[in-house]
Amino acid sequence: MIVLSSYVSGAWKKGDGAGQVLVNPATEEPLAETSTRGIDLAAALDFARDKGGPALRALTFAERGELLRAMSRIIHQNRDHLLDVGMESGGVTRSDAKFDVDGAMGTLAYYADLGKELGSRKWLTDGDAVQLGRSPRFVGHHLLLPRRGVAVHVNAFNFPAWGFGEKAACALLAGMPVFVKPATSTALLAHRIFELIVEAKVLPEGVASLLTGPAGDLVEHLRGEDVLSFTGGGSTATTLRSVQPVVRDSVRVNVEADSLNAAILGADVEPGSDTFNGFLRDVFRDMTQKTGQKCTAIRRVFVPRDRAAGVVEELVERLRGVVAGNPKTDGVTMGPVATAAQARDVKAGLELLRAESRIAFGDGPFEPVGVPAGKGFFVPPTLFVQESAAAAKNAHAHEVFGPAATVFAYDSTDEVITQVRRGGGGLVSSVYADDKALATELVLGVGSSLGRVVAISAKVVDQAPGPGTVLPQSIHGGPGRAGGGEELGGVRGLGFYSQRVAVQGDRPFIDGLTGAKG
Ligand code: NAP
Repeated sequence: MIVLSSYVSGAWKKGDGAGQVLVNPATEEPLAETSTRGIDLAAALDFARDKGGPALRALTFAERGELLRAMSRIIHQNRDHLLDVGMESGGVTRSDAKFDVDGAMGTLAYYADLGKELGSRKWLTDGDAVQLGRSPRFVGHHLLLPRRGVAVHVNAFNFPAWGFGEKAACALLAGMPVFVKPATSTALLAHRIFELIVEAKVLPEGVASLLTGPAGDLVEHLRGEDVLSFTGGGSTATTLRSVQPVVRDSVRVNVEADSLNAAILGADVEPGSDTFNGFLRDVFRDMTQKTGQKCTAIRRVFVPRDRAAGVVEELVERLRGVVAGNPKTDGVTMGPVATAAQARDVKAGLELLRAESRIAFGDGPFEPVGVPAGKGFFVPPTLFVQESAAAAKNAHAHEVFGPAATVFAYDSTDEVITQVRRGGGGLVSSVYADDKALATELVLGVGSSLGRVVAISAKVVDQAPGPGTVLPQSIHGGPGRAGGGEELGGVRGLGFYSQRVAVQGDRPFIDGLTGAKG
């Protein structure tokens, strides 16, 4: 069996002892083994801080952007191979593997272009100089300087490629070295990408490290100028936030956690219209793409009462066409979930939803194709229906991280806004309406509880990739249950990795410092 290594302190290192076994989620065949025991994580973080940090800070934005471009090209050149690795280790279809791998490639390329635009500078300014004294001579200006620590990225199992790419792009462009810890279960893909990047020698020493396996005491070694960016479950986020160095040294933490994303069909949208069809397309895609294992997937579907039965019928019709099974088998459109533990969690979550809602689809016989009998971490796509959103509790409080959603009938705009907000803070929700006044009321009504709102009308329905797609130009993150984090968003994504410092002094000095002379 392949034994995976970690890339730390400038070299590949194997952990001690028997490792955790990574399996193909469709067949449960072992693929690789990895251990991180015995790896000196304190030294590895120091290496990143001491070697990678200065090397990156010496580069301009344009030069750092070229590092990102080289990483993106490596992924592009090895795309087919990486898709195969993603399919096998994540149990995803080829199209779902593309969503992950192409997402990484595209996000790195986007930030490479941003680096080119930012040009020969090495840090950013924020706003303009402001007069502080009696005369225009004494001014203040805010600078954004790269933090002189290491950016530790703890990633989720569902996007081993994109999760690495989106976090690394912002950190490296801002000037911070990255220390990447992918989720162990699907680490094979991130590991392969790292191998290719290391082989190509495109990054200066210490700029990127990889811990392939359990985190051990990694976060115990964080310091004040480091940052920790985490994607995963809310309870792990709570643990990481309360680790001593994080609390004591105010380590900056970003969290992307659970989210009960909603889709709202506006009362003005006629069945059969482009907007209506776009709504059905997005709900169905989010239920089944990556087997529902997307942090941005629609979990709660709000439909005007007189349209609810029709929407359920249309969704059930589409769900009947889903072929679950081994993604390597022809015709399969949905794979398993990533791990046995996830399958258990999803099934337990389905029971919570079943306790309060009727099942419209998912209760019948379920036979995944192309897998040995009884093998694989499969769960059926399941659609619930709830006549009263106000009566439901679990659907607004428990994220089922799999191919499941609940359709709620609603009677008024105020009611739907109130019910969407019961998600307690989310990453994204989408509004499908052609009436501008209604769309405005809905977007503003739910907006402050979310990180992103997608407003779909007939004018953009054929262009919008769906709320589940995170684009690097817009922020990704959300308040409350979603973790309170914020990533990406173009140049905004560099802010987390930069220290904002107010510099006050003599105007010519400040202007010289910021390059705003004359
Ligand atoms: P998780 O247990 O929180 O794991 C996420 C990441 O944290 C993994 O890399 C994991 O490493 C690491 N981790 C766990 N304990 C740690 C610790 N004490 N110190 C440092 N790192 C630690 O999440 P999960 O089991 O993958 O998923 C659980 C739930 O999270 C899902 O059901 C879903 O609700 C939610 N989720 C949300 C997102 C999102 O994008 N917002 C993504 C995935 C999952 P190991 O793999 O080595 O344990």
